[in-house]
Amino acid sequence: MDNDIAEVLFDRKSIQEQAERIGRQISADYAGRKPLVLSVLKGAYLWTADLIREIDLYVDLEFIKISSYHGGMESSNEIQLITDIRSDVRGRDVIIMEDIVDTGQSLEYLETLLNDRGAHSVQVATLLDKKGGRTVDIAADYVGFDVRNEFVVGYGLDYQGLYRNLPYVGILKQSVYS
Ligand code: 5GP
Ligand code: MG
Repeated sequence: MDNDIAEVLFDRKSIQEQAERIGRQISADYAGRKPLVLSVLKGAYLWTADLIREIDLYVDLEFIKISSYHGGMESSNEIQLITDIRSDVRGRDVIIMEDIVDTGQSLEYLETLLNDRGAHSVQVATLLDKKGGRTVDIAADYVGFDVRNEFVVGYGLDYQGLYRNLPYVGILKQSVYS
């Protein structure tokens, strides 16, 4: 897999440092509360695993599966709820954990869903923030790294279902696409 990568943007160590920094921040910001961590499958599972271990609070953990990419490289405008959560979010402080915020449409969809269901608060902790890709006016509350408007893989993020298990975030060689 390493041979398919043109450039490593964020290695394991620097991702771990961001998990530690954001984990400390969330522990302080939510002190005395018991947030519900909502991890967005599939991309955010590695980031969630690292980040929740840096949070020194009682947390509930739920997974939700939505689709926007359909395996390719372009965000589709239509968000689909593939697998919902079962627990009640009414009155809960929800922390959404995302791999990357690009257009912001997935996040807008989730925030609307959670607010409609009566969540007390909704915040977002994302590993990557592709601010240049935004089509809706929405911001993440905790950001590991800002990333250029380029397609990235690794550390949970896929291309056609592959590369999620790369222990770093990088850019694929052009030859992989052709
Ligand atoms: P948005 O709805 O913000 O456009 O996109 C959110 C989802 O699209 C992310 O959670 C991620 O699954 C996918 N996505 C956005 N940008 C990238 C990227 O550069 N690489 C990969 N692999 N997925 C991306
Ligand atoms: Mg995602």
